[in-house]
Amino acid sequence: INGRQKIKLYNQEDISIKERRRDIYWIPIIRKAVRDNDLFLVFQPVVQLNNGDVSHYEVLVRMRGENDQIITPDQFIPVAERMGLIHAIDLWVVENAIDFLAALPSYLSRISLAINLSGSAFQYPDLLQVIRDKLELTWVDAGRLTFEITETAAVDNFERTRDMIIKIRELGCKFALDDFGAGFCSFNYLKTFPVDYVKIDGQFVRNLDHNETDQILVKSMVEIAGKLGKKTIAEFVETPAIALKLKEIGVNLGQGYAFGKPERSLLDGQQVSLAILL
Ligand code: C2E
Ligand code: CA
Ligand code: CA
Ligand code: CA
Repeated sequence: INGRQKIKLYNQEDISIKERRRDIYWIPIIRKAVRDNDLFLVFQPVVQLNNGDVSHYEVLVRMRGENDQIITPDQFIPVAERMGLIHAIDLWVVENAIDFLAALPSYLSRISLAINLSGSAFQYPDLLQVIRDKLELTWVDAGRLTFEITETAAVDNFERTRDMIIKIRELGCKFALDDFGAGFCSFNYLKTFPVDYVKIDGQFVRNLDHNETDQILVKSMVEIAGKLGKKTIAEFVETPAIALKLKEIGVNLGQGYAFGKPERSLLDGQQVSLAILL
């Protein structure tokens, strides 16, 4: 963890004047987007590899730019993290995702969502309050929410993060460890944070069908997760061949362009995914 802090500091100092200018340019745009609801959510199905059913949808945020241009999160999430604006986005996404669930017709009342939280989200005590209040207000069942925490985002305070995760789990929400294997301290995270799902990072998945190293690594991750009583999700499942390989290895769930891209509405991924897995 110490090594990680150093790396982070180094990066911050290393950021060039040009990059800093670009960060500053984004501040009012991000503020305005949160205030004026120029953010919107898209949904990508996560599919059970054994039967092709949609397990839940991951919620991904987008920003409306000028001339109906869509700004993707890699353009503004890292800036928001550096500029202290990420918490406002995290809360906006949580509230709007729960509102989305609340507005679904009753025949879709079993749909659940996975929401990304930044590493710093847990340093703000109001996160718990916002989740609890919103769930109470909308009568949405807490079991319909999973929060994804990424190990590539710097988690500043392990203890506080862990405490917060435990409290949010007590509400009935679930947790997933995102981008597993991509960071410096995968095992540390797995040991420290009580999660229900391990999301295998896409870099181990996208070439899985013809890369033996990836296959060995994914097999070990599945074994470790299984022994710890956690379910595995593979992201970046781009082809049917990869989906079948993952199924063969014993990965529980898959997400990626092979099953469906992130969309404005809940697509019926069911048919698509079944066809691929048969
Ligand atoms: P992530 O959580 O790892 O999300 C997966 C990213 O991979 C998404 O990009 C998704 O569109 C993309 N993806 C999904 N399937 C495939 C595939 O088969 N192939 C390829 N090549 N890519 C695929 P997106 O939506 O641009 O999000 C990028 C990152 O931004 C996310 O990575 C997450 O770290 C962050 N992010 C997105 N939405 C939110 C949010 O609401 N809050 C926070 N804090 N971060 C978010
Ligand atoms: Ca994610
Ligand atoms: Ca991920
Ligand atoms: Ca990622």
